[in-house]
Amino acid sequence: MPDEKDPDWIPREREESGCPCKSRQRYADCCMPFHYGRANPETAEQLMRSRYSAYFFRRVDYLVETTHPTTRSRRLKEDIEANINLINWSFLTIVSVSKGEKEDKTGKVEFIAEYYVDGSRQELHEKSRFKKYKGLWKYLDGKVGE
Ligand SMILES: [Zn+2]
Repeated sequence: MPDEKDPDWIPREREESGCPCKSRQRYADCCMPFHYGRANPETAEQLMRSRYSAYFFRRVDYLVETTHPTTRSRRLKEDIEANINLINWSFLTIVSVSKGEKEDKTGKVEFIAEYYVDGSRQELHEKSRFKKYKGLWKYLDGKVGE
């Protein structure tokens, strides 16, 4: 019997369903290969989307792993774990993307993420910066609000 606590076990329904990042692709064809180490995001936008989906599915290790080492605090994992179960993510809108393509080393993605805390709807409007580390896209930091 598959064990739901096994981080590498993927329920069939989850693979087949629409990706939480709202790309209109199946999770299996979108963020899932990144979450399970089968592929790496080629663009900053892909990484951003996969991090949103990782918050959605509460894949804490992926969030730590995809944070740039220069801005990754020693307590990052504990900090994420402290809040991740309080937040229910409901929608992602990519507002704009600058650079962050395959050949780039840096990129910016502006997005609005909707979520619920205690049943009340909130919005996170962030301009995130991404930077490659050893050839892989990582989240550097973000500015919240307008
Ligand atoms: Zn996705």
